[in-house]
Amino acid sequence: MLLYVHVPFCRRKCHYCAFHSVVPGPGQMRRYVELVEAEAALWGQRLKRPRVETLHLGGGTPSLLPPALLERLVRALRANFAFAPGLEFGVEANPESVADWTVMETLRRLGVTRLSLGVQSFDDNDLTRLGRPHTAEQAEAAVRLAQGVGFPVVSLDLMWGLPGQRLHHWLANLKKAARLGPQHISCYGLTLEPGTPLERQANETDLGLPDEGEQQRMYLQGGEFLESEGYLQYEISNFARMGLECRHNMGYWEGRPYLGLGPAAVSTLGARRWKNPEDLDAYAQAVQAATLGTDAEALDEQTRLREMVMLRLRTTRGLDLAAYRKAAGRDLAAENQAMLRALRQRDLIRLAGGHLRLTRPGMLVSDAIIANLFPDLPAEG
Ligand code: SF4
Repeated sequence: MLLYVHVPFCRRKCHYCAFHSVVPGPGQMRRYVELVEAEAALWGQRLKRPRVETLHLGGGTPSLLPPALLERLVRALRANFAFAPGLEFGVEANPESVADWTVMETLRRLGVTRLSLGVQSFDDNDLTRLGRPHTAEQAEAAVRLAQGVGFPVVSLDLMWGLPGQRLHHWLANLKKAARLGPQHISCYGLTLEPGTPLERQANETDLGLPDEGEQQRMYLQGGEFLESEGYLQYEISNFARMGLECRHNMGYWEGRPYLGLGPAAVSTLGARRWKNPEDLDAYAQAVQAATLGTDAEALDEQTRLREMVMLRLRTTRGLDLAAYRKAAGRDLAAENQAMLRALRQRDLIRLAGGHLRLTRPGMLVSDAIIANLFPDLPAEG
């Protein structure tokens, strides 16, 4: 099982962010940890201390929790879940929140094996426009500190398609990242999420966003550059040194069961899915009444099939056609020969080893490819 803990606190809200996070009030982080302790005990009991292969603390900014609270949190998880030998333990951190050696050292001592740093850009202008709470210099210092502390994997999150950003800026960012030598790099295209300050700004003024052609070049040339530096693409947005892919995220894309703790966390066990309340008070009530997970939605077969296709095609491993045939009762290759041939001729897909994979240009138009190959699957709800 994959275990995820959502830590819903951030120093301040970035202009583009639609994740669930708030600026913590006095005593709120302690209260949150007490509630997650109670939730961990609830699930530990219900699932009989299940075995956990990967643990991921995301958010929000998990590294904002003071070391003593982080220790409490991890202690509660260890008490209620059986950590598998070789557990992958990932934590997301913002550069300014790990500027202090104590925080980094605590994370490493608690067994964190992957530190994922939200760098986003090595250009202060980009960081200001995005409302990030750190500078490029702080980001670089955090990477070096993490490497000094000795995390087996240091990962950097970067963003492309930013206001005012052009192809050469993006490639310069990637060059800088590669020079720092992390084991893993994630590259996300900016999306203007409804209701965010950046989206409102985009409706009022011209943000100078790169046009579609430039964004495509950023994606394609960025990927080529990273591969030339020895980072292998294993998912639409993720690149890693060989063998250092994120097992936790791979688990999601492969459809493995996961339990999410904390406000707004989502869980999928068996064919059932539920989401914890977002609001801390509502979450507290549900923890105290032990009602978490009782309103789970049963996933129907079509939804599971759609997710299987969408998630597997995100990865460079692709969709196992025999597994799809077994699940859907359809032979995709036999039924769509002409279309598959056309997509292959345009270098949008590959068929090899019994798998259907999207090429990098194919990943740019994945929605259209999926809509054509799988017309029966329901659209995302
Ligand atoms: S640090 Fe991450 S989660 Fe927090 S506001 Fe910024 S983008 Fe959102």
